[in-house]
Amino acid sequence: MNTYDLIMKKRDGGELSRDEINYIVNNYTKGSLPDYQMAAFLMAVYFQGMNYQETTNLTLAMADSGDRLDLSGIKGRIIDKHSTGGVGDKTTLIVAPILAALDVPVAKMSGRGLGHTGGTIDKLEAIPGFQTTISEECFVKQVNDVGLAIVGQTANLAPADKKIYALRDVTATVDNISLIAASIMSKKLAAGADGIVLDVKCGTGAFMKNINDARLLAKTMVKIGEMAGRETVAVISDMNEPLGNAVGNVLEVKEAIMCLKGVGDIRLMTVSKTLACHMLLLAGKTNDEKQAYQMIDEVIASGTALDKFKEFVFAQGGNTAYIDNIDLFPKAKYKMDILGKNILPKDKSQGFLSKCNNQEIGMASLVLGGGRETKESEIDLTVGLTIHKRLGDKISSDDVVFSLYGNDEEKLLAASKRVINAYEVTENKDNDNNIIYDVITKNDI
Ligand code: URA
Repeated sequence: MNTYDLIMKKRDGGELSRDEINYIVNNYTKGSLPDYQMAAFLMAVYFQGMNYQETTNLTLAMADSGDRLDLSGIKGRIIDKHSTGGVGDKTTLIVAPILAALDVPVAKMSGRGLGHTGGTIDKLEAIPGFQTTISEECFVKQVNDVGLAIVGQTANLAPADKKIYALRDVTATVDNISLIAASIMSKKLAAGADGIVLDVKCGTGAFMKNINDARLLAKTMVKIGEMAGRETVAVISDMNEPLGNAVGNVLEVKEAIMCLKGVGDIRLMTVSKTLACHMLLLAGKTNDEKQAYQMIDEVIASGTALDKFKEFVFAQGGNTAYIDNIDLFPKAKYKMDILGKNILPKDKSQGFLSKCNNQEIGMASLVLGGGRETKESEIDLTVGLTIHKRLGDKISSDDVVFSLYGNDEEKLLAASKRVINAYEVTENKDNDNNIIYDVITKNDI
């Protein structure tokens, strides 16, 4: 077997066998297959796709490329959650403490930003002192003591995914159903949870731009989960505009804290509660959706979920004073407001926000320094944007529609152009702006 032949086979639309996929994944993980050949292979997969059997074999090869986490020391049924990636998606920071407050153990490995999307680990590192790397022993102990631990993917958990993920991020090979399904499910299988709730994002800011692709990705992952004996549910949610009011690491952490304090954006809270509800159902805490929502509302209203978040942050070395007072978080040097008149056609003084190229909003945050342009880039945690108007809202010339935060005036200007060009305005409201599109369970596959 040799790599050149396998790249060519995939490039020409051939089907790879299990041994061939193992050969590529194992050699890349070991370092004997160089980045340039893996990049070519990924691009071949990107254009030719993989069938269901190939995707399953890729997932298993990646899951078996390192250790599998042993969570047998954790009491209770462990339910994991994973998002396919979006703009302004801070749901893990909200959902995880809610679940822990309801006695569902959350033992979660999260990722960093990918392409134009943010990642939970980068966000958590915005809390001063917060450690995202802890030993497996401490991780298990923390889940038993606090009910919640979130760490970065350890070096030896699906190491193939870790390397491939970073390479995809800089070779424009992220938004492919097989590669996303294998990346997510390999980590979930290796991370050992009993049940998995997936948040499949759909829209202009997601890797899946339309509902058919989102459903296919959701079904592929639910099938892989079932085949591996992990009950898996996928919620398909909207990503045609940023989720919530903030994009950027510090800004998103602040927003998540406000949600736990009971003052959350409605769309963000709807997605968070839907995910939490399905996690509660999988955990067997209730079999009644209505009751699940009541339980969720109660732990937010009573402050128990916020207390759990603080306990978790403290356990991982973070300074909880920032949670009590979000004004302590560091701020970017410059703020630039974008007004309605910057977005409206020259001859109009008002209109409705009708469409958003949400990937461009993610890219604006990346341009400001909030994401990685190369594998080695350091990110600037303070930059990003806040959104004051959403799709369907009426805007007038003098309304502040967005505020951008940056530490470099040139980058701020470049980002502002991207944001302004990302939006379309119409004379009449023409947008019904859904938030939850579908829920896929094992009965749908
Ligand atoms: N999240 C992942 O973990 N992997 C992907 O490929 C996309 C989103």
